Amino acid sequence: MRSGAFSYEALPVRVIFGVGAAAALPQEVDRLGLQRVMVISTAGRADQGRSVAKLLSHRVGAVCDAARMHTPVAVTEQVLATVERERIDGLVAVGGGSAIGLAKAVALRTDLPQIAIPTTYAGSEATPIIGQTQDGIKTTQRSLRVLPEVVVYDVDLTLGLPVAVSVASGMNAMAHAAEALYAQDGNPVIDLLAEEAVRRLVRALPLIVADPTDRAARSDALYGAWLCGTCLGAVGMSLHHKLCHTLGGGFGLPHAETHSVILPHALAYNLAAAPQARERLARAIGADDPAGGLHRLALTLGAPTSLQLLGLPAEAIDEAADLAMRNPYWNPRPFDRAALRALLARAWAGAAPCAD
Ligand code: NAD
Repeated sequence: MRSGAFSYEALPVRVIFGVGAAAALPQEVDRLGLQRVMVISTAGRADQGRSVAKLLSHRVGAVCDAARMHTPVAVTEQVLATVERERIDGLVAVGGGSAIGLAKAVALRTDLPQIAIPTTYAGSEATPIIGQTQDGIKTTQRSLRVLPEVVVYDVDLTLGLPVAVSVASGMNAMAHAAEALYAQDGNPVIDLLAEEAVRRLVRALPLIVADPTDRAARSDALYGAWLCGTCLGAVGMSLHHKLCHTLGGGFGLPHAETHSVILPHALAYNLAAAPQARERLARAIGADDPAGGLHRLALTLGAPTSLQLLGLPAEAIDEAADLAMRNPYWNPRPFDRAALRALLARAWAGAAPCAD
């Protein structure tokens, strides 16, 4: 699929990575010349937001725990009023894709600088992509305004991430790397990142299930997640992401868990048409059949493998297949309604992936 020629636009970002990396936050805020930052989290992670605010002390102008999944515009508008009232000059988001999404939404409208402190493996911090929800419809756009200036990956902040969230989020991350390997606008640098990212996560996740406080495994997973996010930010995504956006946006299924269920099936659908991606994934996963290997890994990890168990009614399979056929993303194998319906039926039932 890849010819020798390519174009690649590397995105500007400063990354601070390591155990205890959050200690560098005051310096990073000062380095950006910020004096009144807003610390952003979800309500569920408000304690973590307060800890970051304490660390930043006099540099904090406001603390906000209003972030919610899928970045509702109504929330962003309320937060913008506080940003203006409190003369906020920068944003520090701590948490998963939901907290980082709110900071991105504010940055889109204000161009304020952002520091992201990711504590899941979703990868949003590494992309110039923002998804927002208004009147029940989620739309996505790309803008360099939403790309965080600094990302602080502190391994310690991920030690408490529950095992169930960790494994679903890890599968979510691997989906970005896997689809990057057959992207129409892919390139050899991203291929290297993607293969290494999958290798790290495949190695780390079973160790995290065995001991969620294993710092070496958490470090591998977080590093892998950064690489995965970099892949997502650099090249276009295909069938897997289309199906997940359809199921998340159209049927309200949870983000990371849906990625976990769909990924082996989307790869089974695509990999015969993407032999180089298949080869790299086989190496990274350690399985001749990467789709089957990932399905078995998901079962071993206790990661979600069934859309039925995520709450999708059987009657929705046909509607989901119809929706996925609308505005299809570029894909190495053409979208075929009957084959996609069969894929979704297998994913619904929790069956093993199959290329038909
Ligand atoms: P999330 O941010 O909602 O976090 C998932 C769960 O993990 C939440 O319950 C949260 O409270 C919990 N959690 C997070 N960190 C924790 C920690 N350290 N300890 C304990 N619990 C913790 O979900 P997510 O999967 O990280 O992100 C999903 C959102 O991000 C979606 O809205 C998705 O569309 C968006 N996203 C955007 C991009 C992008 O490039 N724009 C990429 C990936 C995801």
